[in-house]
Amino acid sequence: MKKSQSHIGNVLHYINGQFVESVSGRAFSNLNPFNNVPINEVAEGFAEDIGLAVAAARRAFDEGPWRTMRVNERMKYIIRIAELIEKYAEDISYLESLDSGLPIAQTKKQAERAAANFRFYAEMVKTRLVGESYQVDNSFINYTIHKPVGVAGLITPWNAPFMLATWKVAPTLATGNTCVLKPAEWSPLTANKLAEIIHEAGLPPGVFNVVHGYGETCGAPLVAHPDVQLISFTGETTTGSAIIKNGSDTLKRVSMELGGKSPAIVFEDADLDTALDAVVWQIFSFNGERCTANSRLLIHESIHDPFVDRLKDRLRNIIVGDPQDPATEVGPLIHREHYNHVNRYIGTARNEGAEVISASIPDGLSAGNYVAPTLILNANNQMTVAQEEIFGPVLTVIPFSTEEEALRMANDSKYGLAGYVWTNDMKRGHRMAQQLECGMVWVNSQNVRDLRTPFGGTKASGIGREGGHYGFDFYTETQIIHVALDEQHIPAFGKKAA
Ligand code: NAD
Repeated sequence: MKKSQSHIGNVLHYINGQFVESVSGRAFSNLNPFNNVPINEVAEGFAEDIGLAVAAARRAFDEGPWRTMRVNERMKYIIRIAELIEKYAEDISYLESLDSGLPIAQTKKQAERAAANFRFYAEMVKTRLVGESYQVDNSFINYTIHKPVGVAGLITPWNAPFMLATWKVAPTLATGNTCVLKPAEWSPLTANKLAEIIHEAGLPPGVFNVVHGYGETCGAPLVAHPDVQLISFTGETTTGSAIIKNGSDTLKRVSMELGGKSPAIVFEDADLDTALDAVVWQIFSFNGERCTANSRLLIHESIHDPFVDRLKDRLRNIIVGDPQDPATEVGPLIHREHYNHVNRYIGTARNEGAEVISASIPDGLSAGNYVAPTLILNANNQMTVAQEEIFGPVLTVIPFSTEEEALRMANDSKYGLAGYVWTNDMKRGHRMAQQLECGMVWVNSQNVRDLRTPFGGTKASGIGREGGHYGFDFYTETQIIHVALDEQHIPAFGKKAA
């Protein structure tokens, strides 16, 4: 049943265990992508709000008990968060769809996955909090321990906002850090829900804080703050680069999950029915606002025409509609500004000589940020739409004749996030996978990931990996401790003359 948005209150920051207005008293409107009508008002944070949140996080880190409590005790809180996410799964799915325009059928599983990730880190931390000892002789021993890093600054984007925020929050908290989350300004609702959940779970004040606001005026002060030890960022490549520069004066540890222009390479011997399903899903699900979308289709020339005919057929039948309707497959883009950005790319494709074929948008949706699912044909890999991330429901199709050519085009990109290879020749599948310059490759598969497996990109798509034990490693410091076991023979400078 469709819910009314009228019960959704304004969003406040969550600082030191309390929901608070901005110091400046300022707020901004949060628009519904379906009709561009404000859903609510959101507190707008600036450097002084960030200062309060970081101070609370710092105090909570320094004074405990979060960092110092027994691991089993801390994990009870982490499990409690998972339970509450499961309890509120339906609300989370609804809020996410309302706020971001993602079809509700596709936001349903996100809370479940986020809860599983909290449970995963509750287990992972217990088994991974294991140091090494180095026996040398009877005179000393060296050993290592893992400690939380300190105050983490977590900065997240508007696509899949709940899942991407919890991706960072779960390992941050499980390893004993405290944090300040700065969610994207276009999708604040589920970050607020997460704050409510963590409040209900009873975490000590200051352990988890959320400050809402814009990138330049709220994200940047978080990055520059000297009491923040690490920044975990997911977003655009250009923003990532600005963050690295801004964090360099205070030598921040950084993790960067950035943009992509990922190729799906379909060979003539592939299972074409499955490849078609996957290619369509990987570009049009989540409204095409997906970092791992296969936005470039490289297709063997011998199957190009029939495959494109089938793509056109799918395009005609895709259900574009109200994101709250469970039947909807493609909803509105997040914001008018992003809608304009995607449409500009479609115009550029035409100007550069490509053929543009778009699905139709049903009547009654003109107030929303709808971009029809679009195919760009007669394209080549040098075109702007093959090189730049569009981040919308737009698939650029490029034929190839040989495996070498496919590989060359796939790698001819500044990005290196994901790659998809479709072939029934498994030697070729592995060969291609190993030569693709990207962080993740799926062979005859699409974007499924066991929680133990790392996630991340190369080149302009990122630095580092999230997930699995990589999450644990990033959010902890390894300390080396040397202990003398007997009398040490240390050169005694200055002793002879005395
Ligand atoms: P964005 O870079 O515009 O914004 C992301 C976050 O950074 C927002 O919270 C924003 O307010 C903040 N920000 C902006 N400027 C900042 C600054 N100067 N200092 C500090 N913070 C700043 O990205 P977006 O448009 O929200 O998200 C879409 C992008 O995210 C796409 O490029 C997509 O590929 C990428 N993404 C990558 C992954 C991945 O895992 N690799 C996952 C999802 C999205």
